[in-house]
Amino acid sequence: MSSSNGDLRRPLDVAVIGAGVLGLATTDALTRRGADVLCFDGRPPGSGQSGGLTRTFRHRHDHEDTVALAVAARQRYRSWEERYGRRLIGDEGAVYAGMGPADVAALARRGVPHHFVSADRHREVFAALGPVDGPLLVDPGAGAIRARRTIAALTEWTRGRVVMADVHCVTDPGDGRGIEIQTHEAIYRARHVVICAGTATPKLASGVGLRIPLHCALHARPHYQVRPEAIGGPLPCWVDRSGANGEMVYGSPIGRTGQYVVGLIGDGVDIALTDEGALPAGRTMDEHVRRVSAYVRRALPGLEPTPVGVRVCVMSKLPAGSDSFGGWHTDGVTASTGHNLFKLAPVLGELLADAAQHNRLPVELERAGERALATSGSPR
Ligand SMILES: Cc1cc2nc3c(=O)[nH]c(=O)nc-3n(C[C@H](O)[C@H](O)[C@H](O)COP(=O)(O)OP(=O)(O)OC[C@H]3O[C@@H](n4cnc5c(N)ncnc54)[C@H](O)[C@@H]3O)c2cc1C
Repeated sequence: MSSSNGDLRRPLDVAVIGAGVLGLATTDALTRRGADVLCFDGRPPGSGQSGGLTRTFRHRHDHEDTVALAVAARQRYRSWEERYGRRLIGDEGAVYAGMGPADVAALARRGVPHHFVSADRHREVFAALGPVDGPLLVDPGAGAIRARRTIAALTEWTRGRVVMADVHCVTDPGDGRGIEIQTHEAIYRARHVVICAGTATPKLASGVGLRIPLHCALHARPHYQVRPEAIGGPLPCWVDRSGANGEMVYGSPIGRTGQYVVGLIGDGVDIALTDEGALPAGRTMDEHVRRVSAYVRRALPGLEPTPVGVRVCVMSKLPAGSDSFGGWHTDGVTASTGHNLFKLAPVLGELLADAAQHNRLPVELERAGERALATSGSPR
């Protein structure tokens, strides 16, 4: 594959780094547009933050631009479902506590169906929920993303495009012959490189001078058995920002398994590793699980309060916190990362494909990136 002048570098139009939901969605979008694209990852697709069974798809976000992207993403998930022939987002809906009229103004402006129900009707919209203080917001078009199935669909659509190799570094040799990426398998020269390497994105992007202040910390995700009497129908996704039960949490059904996952939200709840890669002295993931289980005991009587399992994941956040994300660009390279990206992946994949094709950052990613660098944001 070396070129005729003896150069061992392999030419390529677009290289995507990372086969998580974002990299796969980008590779799929570029493939459909007829691009010469390869996606690089040293692990099987979906081994990073995109692993596991479930994620919440919801429309409500603090910033209206993100609501608009969620509306577009829901539509694109429907096209993915048609193409794959299977459902990728359930029809469970989402219920939120701690929201007022100001929190739904963007939903109303974007025409997203939603309504409030009074506190005394809480069990009608969330059968596992105990008494609440205030009204509950219902987003009926939300639901639990079948995360593993989505990765399987994308893996099928990008077959033959994924190279099982990590990229050691991304550099611009400045000779006008493209961006160089080094892998154990070969050295490539790409016209454009899209970096979607999750927690490794800042390090790879720094090779071409992009600075992305992504903070990574460990997050425990215990799951609970739903009590049989609460399984009247599917339980909805749950966001409790009220703090009324001592914690702010999210929750999501795990498909039709009869299990429900609950996790803490808010700044500072996840545990950052020390520079040596250890948990800080005196901290354990058990404390996380205990806090979630105490919440479940107080607020969710429809769940057995003893967890049946727990996953520990890396949670990545930009300075503005939850739901923030963005794109960063320099000539020949676009990078994207953030938090809670699974729900937006179909639309972010298209935007990153635009970036690769036109060597320009789409305004949606640029503005989101500017917001993401603000220092405080929403807990979810
Ligand atoms: C516990 C938890 C709960 C979440 N809940 C939600 C939710 O409810 N809703 C939602 O929308 N989102 C949620 N998210 C976030 C969402 O899962 C992530 O934002 C999304 O999966 C990130 O996808 P990604 O493709 O950017 O990164 P990843 O999935 O991490 O993919 C990055 C890939 O890059 C690869 N890689 C790393 N280094 C290199 C290298 N040097 N060379 C090549 N490849 C490399 C990795 O192996 C990995 O496969 C949650 C995340 C977690 C952890």
